[in-house]
Amino acid sequence: MITDVQLLADRFGRVARDLRVSLTDRCNLRCSYCMPAEGLDWLPDDTVLTDDEIVRLIGIAVRRLGITEIRFTGGEPLVRRGLVGIIERTRELGPDVELSVTTNALGLAKIADRLAAAGLDRVNVSLDSVRPETFAAITRRDRLSDVLAGLAAAKAAGLGPVKVNAVLLRGYNDDQAPELLRWAIEHDYALRFIEQMPLDAQHGWTRTEMITADEIFTRLAPEFDLTPAREPRGSAPAELFLVDGGPATVGLIASVTRPFCGDCDRVRLTADGQIRNCLFARTESDLRGALRAGASDDELADRWVAAMWGKRAGHGIDDPTFLQPDRPMSAIGG
Ligand code: SAM
Ligand code: SF4
Repeated sequence: MITDVQLLADRFGRVARDLRVSLTDRCNLRCSYCMPAEGLDWLPDDTVLTDDEIVRLIGIAVRRLGITEIRFTGGEPLVRRGLVGIIERTRELGPDVELSVTTNALGLAKIADRLAAAGLDRVNVSLDSVRPETFAAITRRDRLSDVLAGLAAAKAAGLGPVKVNAVLLRGYNDDQAPELLRWAIEHDYALRFIEQMPLDAQHGWTRTEMITADEIFTRLAPEFDLTPAREPRGSAPAELFLVDGGPATVGLIASVTRPFCGDCDRVRLTADGQIRNCLFARTESDLRGALRAGASDDELADRWVAAMWGKRAGHGIDDPTFLQPDRPMSAIGG
């Protein structure tokens, strides 16, 4: 049967092709820019989509809504028990869909091979420092060696190119940008620095304290020759630079100071079955309720399309009326 494809378009001419699926809001780290030390009130179990429900919605996204890329995230996606099965079933639904996982890499060493066998293409690992004491200060857990083992296992399993995402925090690791880049080049990981965004549960973000992409560039420039690596940037959030003529690169994701909302092609499904058309959206569209009330695939697809149409032009962080979303990054799916 051939099903009509409806695109996930918005009124500004953007079309979502990239779906971020949050598999859980729980996490085994407590990164200070994301969660408080004591953790958060986790979503009640019965509100979290089951594996079958997730796979059904992914099927609608891939077969009817033009999604070509899926990233599993969270919270920490590796703590979701059904992860390997969900990836396997997603791969069956979309043999050509690009599949990746964003993870803190705790426990990745143990399952990297199984993830690759299930059809995962690659991983993005979040790592803000390669110094054990800084890592522990930021994440509030002394687990750097597990992350490094996870990274090595991912590379060995063929889950590459392995990207490493780092957030710099003033007073913690803002002096470590060159060291991180040297380490990443040595291990053949593609490093990208992400500006800290106002998405922490504690609402501790301030514009004046955040480390900007310009500041990161300035800190790297004395030690590396950085030249623009690609034009145009398209929907990719990272501005990519060749390091010392290449082939190594470094990315700067200036979500706050140089927003890329005009080219955004992302849509998010939260672990409890809500569609968010933007990280910073103040409203969500409930697919779980409809799904559990017996909605057909057509009805779910229509709801999804309607949810995207309402996407705002930009995140508006610089707008005086900006309000941080009620949900923190870990519950949205970063
Ligand atoms: N737990 C997984 C991980 O850390 O990779 C996946 C979820 S985490 C929310 C996804 C990404 O969001 C990580 O790279 C993390 O560094 C980033 N992140 C979390 N809070 C952030 C914030 N306030 N500003 C910028 N990036 C943030
Ligand atoms: Fe967990 Fe990822 Fe948030 Fe860190 S950034 S606390 S690893 S969800």
